[in-house]
Amino acid sequence: MSTAPTSLASTALRQSLAARLREFMPRSSVLTEEEDLRPYECDGLSAYRRLPWIVALPETVEQVGRLLRLCSEQDIPVVARGAGTGLSGGALPLEDGVLLSLAKFNRILEVDPANRTATVQPGVRNLAISEAAAPYGLYYAPDPSSQLACSIGGNVAENAGGVHCLKYGLTVHNVTGIKFMTMDGELITLGGKALDIPGYDLLALMTGSEGMLGVMVEFTVKLLPKPERAQVMLAVFDEIETAGDAVAAIIASGFLPAGLEMMDNLAIRAAEAYAKAGYPVEAAAILLCELDGTSEEVSEGIAQIRTLLLKQGAAEVRVSRDEAERLRMWAGRKAAFPAVGRLSPDYYCMDGTIPRRHLAKVLRRISDLSKEYGLAVANVFHAGDGNLHPLILYNANKPGELEKTEELGGKILEFCIEVGGTVTGEHGVGVEKIGQMCLQFTRVELEQFHALKAAFDPRGLLNPGKAVPTLSRCAEFGRMHVHGGKLVHPELERF
Ligand SMILES: Cc1cc2nc3c(=O)[nH]c(=O)nc-3n(C[C@H](O)[C@H](O)[C@H](O)COP(=O)(O)OP(=O)(O)OC[C@H]3O[C@@H](n4cnc5c(N)ncnc54)[C@H](O)[C@@H]3O)c2cc1C
Repeated sequence: MSTAPTSLASTALRQSLAARLREFMPRSSVLTEEEDLRPYECDGLSAYRRLPWIVALPETVEQVGRLLRLCSEQDIPVVARGAGTGLSGGALPLEDGVLLSLAKFNRILEVDPANRTATVQPGVRNLAISEAAAPYGLYYAPDPSSQLACSIGGNVAENAGGVHCLKYGLTVHNVTGIKFMTMDGELITLGGKALDIPGYDLLALMTGSEGMLGVMVEFTVKLLPKPERAQVMLAVFDEIETAGDAVAAIIASGFLPAGLEMMDNLAIRAAEAYAKAGYPVEAAAILLCELDGTSEEVSEGIAQIRTLLLKQGAAEVRVSRDEAERLRMWAGRKAAFPAVGRLSPDYYCMDGTIPRRHLAKVLRRISDLSKEYGLAVANVFHAGDGNLHPLILYNANKPGELEKTEELGGKILEFCIEVGGTVTGEHGVGVEKIGQMCLQFTRVELEQFHALKAAFDPRGLLNPGKAVPTLSRCAEFGRMHVHGGKLVHPELERF
């Protein structure tokens, strides 16, 4: 999906805005030529593309403030962008707004080992924080699989998760301070190095706000001491449902693994071909279960979870023998998305979360839907968190196939809601799941979201059209939407 070129009036406005921006930013930091704009036309959800109107790459907080003030005065919307790895279209640009890239804010301002915090700019890569903390025996726990590339600004805006978030929490549990700018260019500081702040928890509110409440320019994050020992178990299953039930059993047993991930056969084969991780390619599913802590804790945990896994029907349980093997076992999981990307011209990554005891049921439903739609689905996900990532394989060049894929994805998300889950676990709503937000929330709940948005950004200039649907959009979605065999009607209690 892409959009038409800008009109003449819009071109004139763009030139005048670019000239004003160049009064306080270098010429090379304000992009208006098509070949310069093209790299910014989408994020990781490449099915949606739109050529930005202007891309600005400020280098200082002062420049961000001046840019926002200028746009605010002229009613020009602004979309913040980190590294553009988002999978829900959150950084999709506008045809009449500024795409504000934070890429040049790439400095680690401080690592404070005594306080176990790091203060960083928004464009710093996730992995770079752990690299900077490593000499002190510390690391930053949330580890999205995209951590080589994604920025901490995008992580906070999406409340990113990762393999180790099961034990150490999502981004929201690991950020203690945020500085952000309002649309009027006012700098607001929330929290800092202390673990708690009085008043409403605006820190949590900003985390996961998808660029809709402010532009974040600095973060203080928690650092954790590296565990003494970490070991991963790879459990092999002949049936995917049995693996799903084993996840629920591990969680119910009271153990809290550092990570608990699942891959189905399609994902296993793709990852093995790509990363040579030593995965059993005949298995219907594998679980990767990591334990960390003191040496005694890890040994005891491994013995007990191995027994549990075998009791739950695992055909085999392997345990990493050294650090190299542990990293190899994870390498396949971490490379699974690009690996699956080699199986078909395109893939669509969904992201729903469910109560863990329903894993087997939901995986069965995904498999039925995959057959019904004639589209292969690979599953590779944060099983311990109940956070599913069905990857739907399709070919965007085949007429109607993207639409079919989106419909299948929508049905998966709706089933997640039906079993008591949510339409996103970590990738955000963006443009992708905006329709399903109408099913997740009632009219009154959405009105509260709109009231909150208006308190921060009364004219709706920050990332419009994303994350929170307008009520009329929901009415439209309700009119089109058939749920459980019935039309979801706009006048019913939801819309
Ligand atoms: C191969 C692959 C694997 C992935 N694995 C994971 C995973 O395991 N866990 C996970 O959570 N995600 C994962 N993702 C998704 C993605 O990497 C995350 O959502 C990440 O947090 C996005 O960061 P980014 O810097 O690329 O943000 P962008 O895509 O640039 O932006 C994302 C959103 O944040 C907003 N934003 C960015 N910077 C700011 C700022 N400074 N102030 C205000 N708003 C801002 C944007 O407007 C947009 O709404 C994966 C993606 C890929 C491609």
